[in-house]
Amino acid sequence: MTRSELPSADLDRVADLWGARTPHSKGSVWPARQDLRLEDGLQIDDVDHWVGSACVLCSNGCGCDIAVKDGRMVGVRGRVDDPVNHGRLGPKGLYGSTPWASSPDRLTRPMVRVAGRLVETDWETAMGRVVEVSRRLLEEKGPLSHGFYTSGQLFLEEYYALAVLGKAGLGTPHMDGNTRLCTATAAVAMKESFGSDGQPGSYTDIDSCDAIFLYGHNMAETQTVLWSRVLDRIEGEDPPIVVCVDPRRTPVAEAAERTGGVHLAPYLGTNLALLNGLQRELLQNGWIDEEWVAAHALGLEELRKVVDPYTPEKVAQICGVEADQVRRAAEVFGTTRDVLSTVLQGFYQSHQATAASVAVNNLHLLRGMIGRPGAGVLQMNGQPTAQNNRECGADGDLPAFRNWDNPEHVQQLATLWNVEVQQIPHWAPPTHAMQLFRYAEQGSIGFLWISATNPAVSMPESARIRKVLDGEQCFVVVQDLFLTETAQLADVVLPAAGWGEKTGTFTNVNRTVHLSDQAVAPPGEARSDLEIFQLYAREMGLTDKDGEPLLQWDGPEEVFEAWKECTRGRPCDYTGLTYQRLREGGIPWPASEQHPEGTDRLYTDHVFPTHTEQCETYGHDLATGGGVTEQEHRAIGANGRAFLKGSPYVPAHERPSPEFPLLYSTGRTVYQFHTRTKTGRARSLQQAAPDPWVELSAPDAERLGISEGDVVRVESPRGAIEVRARVGFVREGTVFAPFHYGSWDRDALSTTRQANELTMTVWDPVSKQPCFKTAACRVIRVRAGDGPSTAPTTAASRPVGALSPTRGGAATTSVTVPTPTYRLDPAGRAR
Ligand code: SF4
Repeated sequence: MTRSELPSADLDRVADLWGARTPHSKGSVWPARQDLRLEDGLQIDDVDHWVGSACVLCSNGCGCDIAVKDGRMVGVRGRVDDPVNHGRLGPKGLYGSTPWASSPDRLTRPMVRVAGRLVETDWETAMGRVVEVSRRLLEEKGPLSHGFYTSGQLFLEEYYALAVLGKAGLGTPHMDGNTRLCTATAAVAMKESFGSDGQPGSYTDIDSCDAIFLYGHNMAETQTVLWSRVLDRIEGEDPPIVVCVDPRRTPVAEAAERTGGVHLAPYLGTNLALLNGLQRELLQNGWIDEEWVAAHALGLEELRKVVDPYTPEKVAQICGVEADQVRRAAEVFGTTRDVLSTVLQGFYQSHQATAASVAVNNLHLLRGMIGRPGAGVLQMNGQPTAQNNRECGADGDLPAFRNWDNPEHVQQLATLWNVEVQQIPHWAPPTHAMQLFRYAEQGSIGFLWISATNPAVSMPESARIRKVLDGEQCFVVVQDLFLTETAQLADVVLPAAGWGEKTGTFTNVNRTVHLSDQAVAPPGEARSDLEIFQLYAREMGLTDKDGEPLLQWDGPEEVFEAWKECTRGRPCDYTGLTYQRLREGGIPWPASEQHPEGTDRLYTDHVFPTHTEQCETYGHDLATGGGVTEQEHRAIGANGRAFLKGSPYVPAHERPSPEFPLLYSTGRTVYQFHTRTKTGRARSLQQAAPDPWVELSAPDAERLGISEGDVVRVESPRGAIEVRARVGFVREGTVFAPFHYGSWDRDALSTTRQANELTMTVWDPVSKQPCFKTAACRVIRVRAGDGPSTAPTTAASRPVGALSPTRGGAATTSVTVPTPTYRLDPAGRAR
């Protein structure tokens, strides 16, 4: 690649979140730009070699190369030829990808609990203890005594090994991941509408849409590179209109106002009422494609009845927005040619999550706006490899989007794994995470294996979760990179290799599969998660019905080849992919003989995987979660048509009261990821957002006598935190807290910083995703602060008053480069 301009060096990407604009007009290819960060003092020529990968600090999946020097990872650069990011990286990717790896507090040896304390030991001792407890419980209580709680951050091969181990090896239905907290609703919303998980749209839809609706999705902070792509459209010719649904005045909300769209800021817990109102407006104004709906969807008349009561005035009254805002948003959706919708945690972690997210799909189906460039739905993910967890079945689903309730699907797996069909649990729906922790609390699960996640900080009602993990009733194994808050409560801790220290693949939101090759050796005795699962399976003597080892693969590439067979003919068909092909860059599935280059967008033929024999679920009632039976599904006769499903709005579990008059919501900041395991060890990111805070609206702050930086106590019926106040732009009556902050970087296990002390153990009836967005709370001023809060002044947490801006990120470079041809990009093919 020849550079067309000199490098733009010393860019502070803490201050400049999205980098320089490269405007592009509707239907043109997004121009390339390469971003780079190397450790201070290093130049390009100092790098020994580069290793291909993709970033794992959010779900966007930006292609990157890892810089290696003297056996260490020392930086990253964006891959210009990658279809996801066209060379760009965001602040988290640039600053947070590599520093954690050489952090002095990495786990390098296994640990076991002795007389109440965790002490280092060898693998034989640690795994010996795991196997001894596991064997004993299997003998005494059977497989239901075992639970596995994994992550959105392992590699595909590791999830698949875990799924085979749990389902075919042990036969436990108690498997889930922290994806339940993050993308369970995305998966379920697609299953309910289209018959199967699998993202209909593509990032390339941004390049050709006329309007973009972001529902509970602060893309500007959670997927910064994707937001660059939107900003570049906004600054080009024929910019799209942006519509934002968010209770905070995010950069997305500001873009909505700039582009002639609308910022709808509903009361927490009222998303479904708003979406019912939008659907009603489409129907009332005739903004639907009746012919398309008749040919390709079911349920129009039932939906009409459900949404009919939601006039703009009624929606305004329930949601606290203007009736004309509802009309304007519906008009944009109903009269614009190509609309892209994106949905994220504001909907998924809310009250009536599945119904509200399905309503977004409904809007697209009503207009027949699916399967063509610019007219897509992106039911987003939060974590980098959440998609693979869902695909592989380590979250409880059956691998390759098979239906646990379809005997033929279960038989296919039994044949593939060479085990008896009865061995694979399928007599009831798989256990979801919230229930799994309940069983661990009661002790019916006596063996809980947690990999690459930190529920002590990330699960709701964290005081309860700490008690579950700390109690005698359940033996807890944790495998991770660091002694996290969760690992500190474990009985056995296993040191794991991280990104760049092992090889494997993973898949992002728009189905793009990347290979991440091993760049460096893991520290000390740390092993890849795949090796750890294989070691356990071997020590346990888990075999198929011929007595052959169950996880018999020699390395990740063999697992990938086995996985390909598992996906053959399924919606997520990987059979056309190889490690070799993936070394050239990301490829979106399905990639098979019919689609050797992969597939940019699903449902271009408007045929959906809803045949009874094919679908991933027979569906549910969205209000109650009650399941549709196989006979009922067959009687409906969807046969390739999508489902329009509606549900009435009902109020959230907890509403403001005189005692707790405000509503509390958790969320993210642009500078941190998850529980800061990696980003908290990256100087530039940690300095930008070092401590937790709560955001209050200016009217609420004034009423409560609270000023910027004051220490406040936020209390809910379940717990309390004491943090500093940011007087900002959250909607009045709402309190926002970032959920990233636990106590691993403190002297003691302090819980007064943890946002999840306040949240509730309640979940959506269909997706079982816990509700982090609606808890009643009160805020009390404790004392004056010694200055403003350290909350970032950028993006959604910016203050009402003027403060010194957040900056100070280490130097990065960014260069514009010639834009290559991207094989699947519709605009590129049109050139
Ligand atoms: S947008 Fe996400 S995947 Fe891309 S560089 Fe930033 S954190 Fe990494």
